[in-house]
Amino acid sequence: MGSVAANVAELDGSKFNITRSTNLRDVPLPGSPEELSHSHCTDHMVTVKWTAANGWETPEVKPYQNLSIPPTASVLHYATECFEGMKVYRGYDGKLRLFRPDCNGERLNSSSQRSSLPGFKYDEVKKLVAKLLQIDGPRWLPNPGSFLYIRPTVIGNGPHLGVQVPKEALLFIIAVPWPDFTKMKKDPEAEPRKGLRLYASSPDTIRAWPGGFGYAKLGANYGPSLQAHGKAQALGFDQILWLFGPDRQVTEAGASNFFIIWHNTEGKLELVTAPLENQLILPGVTRRSVLELVRERLSQNFVGKLAPLEAVERTLTIDDIEKASKEGRIVESFVSGTAYFITPVAMIQNENTDINTLGANGEPAGYAAQIKSWLEAIMFGKEEHDWAYTIENEEK
Ligand SMILES: *Cc1c(COP(=O)(O)O)cnc(C)c1O
Repeated sequence: MGSVAANVAELDGSKFNITRSTNLRDVPLPGSPEELSHSHCTDHMVTVKWTAANGWETPEVKPYQNLSIPPTASVLHYATECFEGMKVYRGYDGKLRLFRPDCNGERLNSSSQRSSLPGFKYDEVKKLVAKLLQIDGPRWLPNPGSFLYIRPTVIGNGPHLGVQVPKEALLFIIAVPWPDFTKMKKDPEAEPRKGLRLYASSPDTIRAWPGGFGYAKLGANYGPSLQAHGKAQALGFDQILWLFGPDRQVTEAGASNFFIIWHNTEGKLELVTAPLENQLILPGVTRRSVLELVRERLSQNFVGKLAPLEAVERTLTIDDIEKASKEGRIVESFVSGTAYFITPVAMIQNENTDINTLGANGEPAGYAAQIKSWLEAIMFGKEEHDWAYTIENEEK
């Protein structure tokens, strides 16, 4: 799919042209300004060129460097761009692992085609990522229990200023040390925070709409949303909670999916998150994993003090949440995503009304913490699971 001619080359993550850096970069210390800058990438990057005439060229691993693109490049004018966010984890057994990388490969392929860029065999993406980490992993990710952030990206880099489907594209992959906010020392003077504070979007600011592209990870979704995010932050909130439609449906929060656990109006304990069908939300890999884990491990029996519940994907509105909060039916709420993982939500402000989204005793009930620890066990190799993809050491 996505290729114009039948005989053009497919993406192939098994062959590489490798140029090693001879000028290695400093590895930033955890919590350092370089790490906090989210811009200090590892020694190498992967690039793969594509043309409509020939398809995908042989992938290259080369020293991290600036790209050179013409000022007329399609991406700079028509936002022909999409990306992925994933992490590589250094396990407690010393192995490097990716978490469900084919889900990211598949989503990048779908996003690429949605932004008029070429498609590819999605399971090749994890091989490209693995190659980069085989080379940079030993020096950049030595410590068990830590991770690097990985950003696979596709851009239309051809020189044609005419408004048309790109005939040239570039897939590139970079890896960057990313602060682990869960491990950073908190300001001892600061009031302890029980969770994120979300600011509900106003009706004149819509992130995604039916028939649009909110379900794809396109740069075009983010630039225009940063203004609202900046406003929320200036008002002291952590994220925007995106509402949609006249009934103010709750869709997702920033670049994370939103979940609420409550006793529904019939008294049944549920985990609810927005559905994928109307294509308003990004289908998060973490979201999908949360739903699958809850259905598998929490739908029948108690886990410690946590009562079993049903996971449902259903439209919910901000009024539903406000009503549940007033009636004391909320048990816990949280957001999920690769960048900020699983984080409880303490409150939502909607049109000057503060809605408490913690449990009845003012604490998260512990579901988010349990789900997080299950996921971490898989990511860091404490539990053998087929969601983990182990990166073999480089053959020397
Ligand atoms: C990336 C992203 C998410 C989370 O997806 P994961 O695959 O779990 O990282 C959720 N919402 C939006 C808008 C995103 O961009």
